[in-house]
Amino acid sequence: MTAPAIHTTSIEHLDHQPTCGFKRHKTPVTATYWVQAHACEERLMCTAHTNRLRELGHRLLSKHGYIECAHCLAHFSTFETYAAVVSL
Ligand SMILES: [Zn+2]
Ligand SMILES: [Zn+2]
Repeated sequence: MTAPAIHTTSIEHLDHQPTCGFKRHKTPVTATYWVQAHACEERLMCTAHTNRLRELGHRLLSKHGYIECAHCLAHFSTFETYAAVVSL
C-alpha cells in the first residue's frame, strides 16, 4: 500500500500570498500595496485600506496643511513625504 500523494503547491502558494496587515478583516485580504510611513511604520495593505489612508492624508492636508504622525508627532506637508506607497 502506498500513501496518497499530497499536493502542496496550492497551499504553499497561499502561504506566500501577502495579506493586508490590518486586523479588522474577518478573513485575510490579499495585500496590493506596501506602505512605509517614513521611519515609523510599515505594513502590507489591501487596496481599500491604502485608499482610505491616502484619503485621510489628503483630508488632513487640506484642513490643517500638514499630516501629523500619530507615532512620532512629526508634521509632513505632503502625503508622499509622510508615506511611500509601493504597488506589489
Ligand atoms: Zn485591508
Ligand atoms: Zn512618525
